[in-house]
Amino acid sequence: MGAENKLSFEFNPIVRGMKIADSNTLFPIHRVFCVGKNYAEHAKEMGSEVEKKEPFFFSKVPESVTQVDKILIPEDTANLHHEVELVVCLKKGGMNIDVDAAHQCIFGYAVGVDLTKRDIQKNSKDKGHPWESAKSFDQSGPISEIRKYEEVVLKNNNISLSINGEEKQSASINMMVWGIEELISILSQKVILKPGDILFTGTPAGVGNIKKGDILEASIDEVGALKLNFE
Ligand code: MN
Repeated sequence: MGAENKLSFEFNPIVRGMKIADSNTLFPIHRVFCVGKNYAEHAKEMGSEVEKKEPFFFSKVPESVTQVDKILIPEDTANLHHEVELVVCLKKGGMNIDVDAAHQCIFGYAVGVDLTKRDIQKNSKDKGHPWESAKSFDQSGPISEIRKYEEVVLKNNNISLSINGEEKQSASINMMVWGIEELISILSQKVILKPGDILFTGTPAGVGNIKKGDILEASIDEVGALKLNFE
């Protein structure tokens, strides 16, 4: 083997690991995908409708995902919104994955919050600009510990979120327009999914503003819970 084959990294690549409930191992985060408008009532409250033909996806930077319990409210927004979501964590990827085979990709699930700078998102929509800066920023996707449920498709779990003890969002994941297997399958037609990819599956109705000092609690039955302090 020649010297040209002995390439090494200039510096250590950044690999970020997320805690898994009741486990000594970490889940290495690769990419972070999100689906928009996956609960009809949320689409309605946004003055919109569900895209029945095809779900639409967007991404967050991997640095969005965090398991710290203190979140700094970014200074460039006056309207940071909470969106509680079931997060699917993949152990296996692929492309053009059949709906019937999609469950084989599932490692487990977490409770996540898709933090959104709603004012910036609206501004971007109005101008026809991409809304990436409203969705994809450091700490914009806090998640609970990951609950291992290999190859299991969750169906009827309740999902809820409260601010300072007052319930704001409450639904069942069976209200999702596009189910977990469909989402994995459709996403795999657009990108080659990889182990470590995670997918935020959309939020039910009741999104709203978070202020400094607020305590956010979110949970999904049989998955876990998340408590965040906003500063
Ligand atoms: Mn969302």
